[in-house]
Amino acid sequence: MSPSPPPRILVVDDGAANVDLLEAYLVPEGYSVEKAYDGLEALERVTASPPDLILLDVMMPRLDGYEVCRRLKSSAATVFIPIVMITALQELEEKIKGIDMGADDFLSKPFNKIELLTRVRSLLRVKALHDQLEASKRLLEVKVKERTAQLEEALVVLHQLDQLKTEFLSTVSHELRTPLTPIKGYLQAVLEETLGPLSPSQKNGLGIVAENVTMLERLIGDLLAYVRMESGALKLSLEPFSLESLFEGLTEQLKPQAAAKGITLTATLPPDLPAVVADATEMERALLHLLSNALKFTPAGGTVFLEAQLVSPAASGPTLVQVVVQDTGIGIPADKISKIFDRFYQVDGSTTREYGGMGIGLAIVKQIVTAHGSTMGVESEVGQGSRFSFVLPVSR
Ligand code: ADP
Repeated sequence: MSPSPPPRILVVDDGAANVDLLEAYLVPEGYSVEKAYDGLEALERVTASPPDLILLDVMMPRLDGYEVCRRLKSSAATVFIPIVMITALQELEEKIKGIDMGADDFLSKPFNKIELLTRVRSLLRVKALHDQLEASKRLLEVKVKERTAQLEEALVVLHQLDQLKTEFLSTVSHELRTPLTPIKGYLQAVLEETLGPLSPSQKNGLGIVAENVTMLERLIGDLLAYVRMESGALKLSLEPFSLESLFEGLTEQLKPQAAAKGITLTATLPPDLPAVVADATEMERALLHLLSNALKFTPAGGTVFLEAQLVSPAASGPTLVQVVVQDTGIGIPADKISKIFDRFYQVDGSTTREYGGMGIGLAIVKQIVTAHGSTMGVESEVGQGSRFSFVLPVSR
C-alpha cells in the first residue's frame, strides 16, 4: 500500500508574518501547508481543492473570517472541513460569533505552538474518521448498485424460467388430456357392456380403472386450472347460487372416498341460508380441493366437516356467509402455515408418496378465493386438525 499523503492544511491570514509562522510550526510536523491571504482567495482555494483543515483569521480585507466560515459550513461539499478560527483576543463575544458561523475550534494570537499542534491533531483525527466513513459509504453504495443490478438480472431470468415452466405445464396438460377422451369413452362402453358381456371380476377391475382415470382427469384439470390462473386467464362468472346444492353434490361425490378411509363426512348449513354470489364452478373446485385435503390428511376414525353460516356484517358492509372446511386430521405445524398456499409446497415431501398430490391444490384455492375478493383463513394444530375458511357475499 502506498503511504497516505500528508494532511493538507490551508492557512488563511492577511498578515504574511502570521502565515509564515504557522507554516514554520506545521511543516516540521509533516503537514502540507497551503496559504491564502484573504477571504475570497481562501474560498477559491477550497473550491479548487478542499483541504483537510483550515486555520482561518477573523479580521481580513475583502471577506472576513466569519463570512468565509459561514459560507463553507453552509455548503454540503465543505461542511465537514474542520475550521479553527484565529482570534486576536480572548474575547468571548468573538468566539460566540465564530460558533454561530460553525467554527470547530479557536486559537488566540499570539500562538502557543503546543496548543496549536494539539488542536490541529485532534481535528484532523475527526476529519480522517469522517473521510473513512464517507469512503465506506461510497463503497457500500457501489456494492448496493452492483448487487441490485445482479438481482434485477436474476429476476428477469427467473421470470423467463417461470414463464417457460407455465408454458411447459400448459402444453403437457393439454397433451395428457387428449388421449383421456377416447380412454374414457371406450371404458364407459366396455363397462356398460356395449362391446360384449363382462364377468363380475372384469367389471370390478374396470371399475378401479375408471376411478383412476377420473383421478387422472382431476389432476390434469388442476394443472390446467393452475396454468390458467398463473397466466391471469381466470375469468369468474359471478351469479347467485345455493350452497346447499353445492354441498350436496360435493358430499355425494366424496362419500365413497370418506367411507373407504373410515372417515365421517358431514355437511351442515342453516336451512334458511340465502344464496351467495360467486362462480359456482370455481367454488366447487376450491371446496373439492379443501375437502380432498381434509380427507387425505385425516386418519381413519376422524371427521371432516363442511359448514356454512351467516356471519354478522360489519357496520356498513354486505351480509356474508362463512364457508368452513374442518378436519380432525394430522394438522399443520405453525411455522409451515404461511407456506402451504405456495405452489408446489408440501409440508412433508414424503406425503406425496403416502397421500399423492402435486402441492398446487391450495395455490389454486387461494387464487380462487382471492379472485372472489376474499381471503383464506387457516387455523391448525398438529395432531388435532385444521380449519380452512373464507367468506362470500350474500345475494341481495
Ligand atoms: P397437496 O395436497 O397436493 O400436497 P396442497 O397445495 O393442496 O397440495 O397442500 C399443500 C400442503 O399443505 C399439503 O401437502 C399438506 O402438507 C398441507 N395440507 C393441506 N391441507 C391440509 C390438511 N387439511 N391437513 C394437514 N395438512 C394439510
